[in-house]
Amino acid sequence: MNLVFLGPPGAGKGTQAKKLSGDLGFVHISTGDILRDAVSKGTALGRKAKEYIDRGELVPDDLMIALIEEVLPPGGGVIFDGFPRTIPQAKALDDLLEGKRMAVDGVILFDLEDEEIVKRLAGRRTCPSCGAVYNLVYNPPGKDEICDRCGTKLIQREDDHEEVVRKRLQVYRDQTAPLIDYYAQKNKLIRLDAGRPIDEVYADLLRIVNEKRH
Ligand code: ADP
Ligand code: AMP
Repeated sequence: MNLVFLGPPGAGKGTQAKKLSGDLGFVHISTGDILRDAVSKGTALGRKAKEYIDRGELVPDDLMIALIEEVLPPGGGVIFDGFPRTIPQAKALDDLLEGKRMAVDGVILFDLEDEEIVKRLAGRRTCPSCGAVYNLVYNPPGKDEICDRCGTKLIQREDDHEEVVRKRLQVYRDQTAPLIDYYAQKNKLIRLDAGRPIDEVYADLLRIVNEKRH
């Protein structure tokens, strides 16, 4: 089964995808994580992507589609987190999966209001070493700004500063929100109220995924 996690930045897609892939064995593909890793390693992709990420804009579709073709595991079983983000990306994903006799089986739409998004992203801290995600208010690490899992000092993402967050929200509305209709028309969209505590959202998500599996 292949799932797409759709929704605005900061809605909790990565947090839930990490839990669900750990518990149910999905392969978690976060294009944002892959791009940040490429930037930090200074690869060709990273050098091309950096300026877009820093401005809060989307990396061009041709680069993203080539990236997904490269990382898609042959047997599927993927949670796509942060991909697709445009209609051309969604069409390319449909074609790619169809060529391998698979499909997008469900799209979970993480619903959250803008003001809550801005609050969550202001408090987001990530571990540059193991990728764990925290929130200073809602999901704090045990010791101040140190990763519980690996002991590394946490960082704030450059694109989580408020000005870039506002830009990313605009980009979401203009370029990504049209995917809601795209998948609704294919009868694949499942709405999730993402404005509740992490464990409540997760319980709901587990119920949805288990219903789909049976
Ligand atoms: P996304 O992957 O959609 O951009 P994240 O999973 O990184 O979002 O979550 C954004 C921020 O909000 C992080 O700091 C995370 O710890 C926090 N967060 C995630 N889910 C919740 C929730 N249900 N309630 C409160 N804070 C949350
Ligand atoms: P995320 O970690 O999902 O919030 O993504 C961080 C940034 O990476 C975005 O603001 C974009 O610049 C870039 N990015 C991630 N995924 C995509 C995608 N599917 N298409 C275009 N750009 C992307």
